[in-house]
Amino acid sequence: MATPSNILVSEESKVRERIAAVGRSLYNRGLSPGSSGNISVRLTDGWLLTPTNSCLGELDPSSLSRLDWHGNLISGAKPSKEYFLHLAMYENRPQSRAVVHLHSSFAAAVSCLEGLNHASCIPPITPYFVMRVGKLPLIPYFRPGDKSLASEIAKLAGKHAAVLLANHGPVVSATDLDSAMYAAEELEETSKLMLLLHGQNVRTLNSSQIQELRTVFNAEWES
Ligand SMILES: [Zn+2]
Repeated sequence: MATPSNILVSEESKVRERIAAVGRSLYNRGLSPGSSGNISVRLTDGWLLTPTNSCLGELDPSSLSRLDWHGNLISGAKPSKEYFLHLAMYENRPQSRAVVHLHSSFAAAVSCLEGLNHASCIPPITPYFVMRVGKLPLIPYFRPGDKSLASEIAKLAGKHAAVLLANHGPVVSATDLDSAMYAAEELEETSKLMLLLHGQNVRTLNSSQIQELRTVFNAEWES
């Protein structure tokens, strides 16, 4: 018989399967080489994260790390060392239910450019970037594992669904896992466009075109 607790268990097992499928898809398309990148999903009581040193192409749904809201491991394998990037997003964005962090090539390349606008690393060159990713701020460089990254994300996450870590890669959140994956892909493709257009005279969307996207599609792009 379906009781509230076994409904929750079956919901969680579906989420675990979907994390593995999304990881495989990102890995197979070259967006998370080696053991880079991590994926998390908010549950009703805690959250799931991909384990440390795991390849996103070969995730075992049953051994994903289950954590509490202090970052403590409740069950599963040892979590990614980058767990605090995810926690900082969730703590400051109650509407975000999934986070994807990648070291994908084009977004990582943009994160290494000198002279980026720290408030908005990628200009509004396409409507889908504005709608799916929004204005993308730059987080200053810190060594991997430095918790200062979390406090920097915490300062910006209230107003930004995605941030770019300097010389590292993007952290992207959304209301569900598939949307977070699509937003991370949109960010990667727009990074590629930005690099393709480098040095050329580019026509970005103007403020009334952005305002239209805010009104019609609730795009998060504050002027
Ligand atoms: Zn990373």
